[in-house]
Order: sequence, then C-alpha cells, then structure tokens
Amino acid sequence: MSRALVLVTGLDGAADEPSLQTLTLARRLAGTVDAVAIGPDAAAVAAGLGAHGAATVHVADGPALAAFAPDAWARILADLAGSLDAGFILAPGTETGNDVLARVAARLGEPLAANCTSATAGDPIAVTRVRWGGSLLEEALLRPSRRAVLTVAPHAIQAEPASAAGTIARLSPTLDPADLVVVVKDRVAAAGGGVSLADAKVVVTGGRGVGSPEGFAPVEELAGLLGGAVGCSRAVTIAGWRPHTDQVGQTGTKIAPQIYIAAGVSGATQHMAGAKGAKKILAVNKDPEAPIMTNADYAVVGDLFEVLPAVSAEIRRARGG
Ligand code: FAD
Repeated sequence: MSRALVLVTGLDGAADEPSLQTLTLARRLAGTVDAVAIGPDAAAVAAGLGAHGAATVHVADGPALAAFAPDAWARILADLAGSLDAGFILAPGTETGNDVLARVAARLGEPLAANCTSATAGDPIAVTRVRWGGSLLEEALLRPSRRAVLTVAPHAIQAEPASAAGTIARLSPTLDPADLVVVVKDRVAAAGGGVSLADAKVVVTGGRGVGSPEGFAPVEELAGLLGGAVGCSRAVTIAGWRPHTDQVGQTGTKIAPQIYIAAGVSGATQHMAGAKGAKKILAVNKDPEAPIMTNADYAVVGDLFEVLPAVSAEIRRARGG
C-alpha cells in the first residue's frame, strides 16, 4: 500500500489550503502520491501540485463535470484508485471532501475514517480523528479490505511543500446517467459578499452581548478596517440577528484566522469548537469570569461598545485617516 490518491479541491482557481494539508498527510502514508482535480477549474487547481509532492496530477473536466456532482466525482476517484491500485484515497475533510469520500467508501464497500488529524501506515492503520464537533479526539484502527479511505480535518496539520514531478494526466471518465442525478443547479452568494468566514485571515465576531442586529455596527466596522469577515454565535442566529452562514462553531463554520476577535461571546464549548483553528484569540467581554477569557491569548475586560470603536479609531488614526 505505497500509493495514495488525493482529491484536490480549489478556491479561486488554485488548490485550497485543506487540500495541500491533505497532500502532506498522504506523503507520510505512501511513497507515491497522485492527485486528482475535477471540474471546470481542474486544470488551474492542478497547476503547481508537484511542489506539494504530487507525482502525477489527473485532471477531469469537460461539459458533464461543469457542475459539482458528488456521485460523478466519487466514481472518478474510485475508478482511478482501482487503475492505480492506490492503497489510500484521501480528501480534505471539508463538506465537499466528506461528501465525495463517503460515496467513494460506499462504492468500494470500505470504511470511511472522516476528519483525521493524523494517520500512520501499517496493518491496521492507526488514525486519530476529530469527533463531536472538535470536543473529542478518537484514536481508531482502520482495517480496509483493499483501500483505506480517509478525510483530513482542515487546519489540523501544516501544509509542507515537497518536490515531485507534478505531471499532468488528462482523464476521460466514463460516467453513468445515475452519477449525475445529484448535481448543483445553482449557487447563491452569501449576502454581503466579501471574504468568506472559513478563509478569512481576520474574523471579528459578535455574540449575544451585541444586543441587537444594529449592535453589529462596531463589529462590522472593525472587520471592514481589518479586511476581515464578520462572525457570530449561535445565540445571535437563533435571535435572528444574523444569518446562519455567519455562525462560528460546532454547528456553524470552522474558522482558522490569524486573529479571532470575539466580542460579547461567552465562549461556550460548542462555539470554541469552531474557533480552535485560530492562531490567536482576542476576547472582549464585560465579565472577567467568562469562559472565553481563559481560552484567549489577549483579553480585554470592558464594554464592547467602548472597546471596539476605540480600536477602530486607533487604526484610522495610525493610517492617517
Ligand atoms: P452568551 O452565552 O449569552 O454570552 C454573552 C456574553 O456577552 C457574556 O459573556 C457577557 O458577559 C458578554 N457581554 C454582554 N454584554 C456585553 C458588552 N456590552 N460588552 C462586552 N461583553 C458583553 N454556539 C455557537 O456559537 N456556535 C455553534 O455552532 C453552536 N452549536 C451548538 C450545538 C449544540 C448541540 C448546542 C447544544 C449548543 C450550541 N451552541 C453553539 C450554543 C452555545 O452552547 C451557547 O449557547 C452560545 O454559543 C452562546 O452564545 P453567546 O456567547 O453569544 O451568548
């Protein structure tokens, strides 16, 4: 089992970070790593994957794959893994990656180890994986009959560059009409546009302490000045102050910014499950005993309606505006 096949997905015409992290884990498992990119931007996504250790990058595009169709992607991966005799099939543990690999596992009759943070080759294969929205790490042993199928928890490991040929190979997949029954028909951009929560380098979140939809004004102002995204807690989405697409947490978006600024958020376990990937956390809370204060790298005890505008004013002053 010395060959791994990795599904690489894209963001803005390039391989996304979770896919590069998955390639890194694949190299720890197998001597040879093949990658596959599928869909209209597959050629762009495939470029440069040699610098992340892919010996061959298989590209599948064409009219039938113009829209995301998880069963078609699963067939391509399963068939390609068969022809390469890959012992490992991996994908990033994103919604797309988990969706496709669950279908690959079902096709092959193999178990799926989803959201792994590490994996060690052997018989059995030892994996550690994130469960229960990040509140539990499970150590498990995987005994596939032929191919190990696993997804890699986003931002659990660092993507490391490596040198390999990165030879592009065009695929002409044979698809069945049944593979195209489930297909994305339309995409609706989140209101507000701008930088997405999952990819933002800066996230400024407001919790129940913000008090109302209008109370988000200082949160939005600071996020705008920092080129960041606005997040919120579930208390906020339940109150109907912000859409669910803004929610950070176990049942919301998992974020991995350089800095996470959380204002008026208590720091419940389910919220922090989504903020674990943040490099630094700055909490602003009136209550010095709020749980988030112990999780934070920087804590400001104070009223967010005084602290956030003061920070924004200072940024403006420093920029000469
Ligand atoms: P609160 O807990 O009410 O905290 C408000 C904070 O604001 C307090 O600490 C208070 O001191 C502070 N504050 C008030 N006024 C000010 C002010 N003027 N200035 C500064 N600070 C102020 N929650 C999530 O966020 N995301 C999830 O994905 C999620 N998933 C869940 C899944 C399940 C199955 C369950 C059971 C719960 C989930 N929750 C989730 C809910 C979670 O348990 C908490 O209830 C929620 O996170 C609380 O939101 P909050 O921190 O905004 O509100």
